[in-house]
Amino acid sequence: MVNKLVWAELHKELSSKNVLLIAVSKTKPLGDIQELYDLGQRDFGENYVQELEEKQAELPADIRWHFIGHLQSNKVKYIAPFVHLIHTIDSFKLLEEINKKAEKAGRVIDGLLQMYIADEDTKFGMDEKEIIRFLDYYEAQRSRLSHVRICGLMGMATNTENAQQVAQEFTRLHNFFIFLKDTSFLGKDYFSVCSMGMSADYTIAIAAGSNMVRIGSLLFGQR
Ligand SMILES: *Cc1c(COP(=O)(O)O)cnc(C)c1O
Repeated sequence: MVNKLVWAELHKELSSKNVLLIAVSKTKPLGDIQELYDLGQRDFGENYVQELEEKQAELPADIRWHFIGHLQSNKVKYIAPFVHLIHTIDSFKLLEEINKKAEKAGRVIDGLLQMYIADEDTKFGMDEKEIIRFLDYYEAQRSRLSHVRICGLMGMATNTENAQQVAQEFTRLHNFFIFLKDTSFLGKDYFSVCSMGMSADYTIAIAAGSNMVRIGSLLFGQR
């Protein structure tokens, strides 16, 4: 069931802070997505390629679909024709594949680098050193990799009640985001997305500088 009141309040609060709300609709039915769409929500996030493909085919064409799950290279081709932003780039191999399939689809696909900030070993992503190495590679190959554009970072904090720890993790990501924005070749205007915060921790994430939050259960109920 969709919580319309929560959506309206979140939408108002987040727009006033220039934070983009991604409604995470994984495992939720088409009707729920349509309900939020009818209220004005346009950005939706999905974790599974096949589910996203099926939903995209059925729902309004102006929805901006965000891919936020772990993405296997061999599945990129299914979402390349329409995906708006891939939040989870964490390897050269994946970057190469996105570039290839975007070129085939006649598009440039935007992506975020997933940064590992949690104190858990179940989450994907790269640390600061790996991201620097990644960006060196991307810069060197840039003329060839012209169908993919890195426009920010994404991260997930540890799933813990310890708000101080969560705040530290988000701050680490945001500091690195600002560092790259100021110093890397990517360009301040284009390198502009700091995607962090979910239902349980989005207020902490925004206080730490997030400008894109990914919220599921608060809007759609528990999965
Ligand atoms: C599921 C998911 C979310 C949303 O989680 P909620 O706790 O339901 O808000 C956000 N980001 C990612 C990467 C997810 O997989």
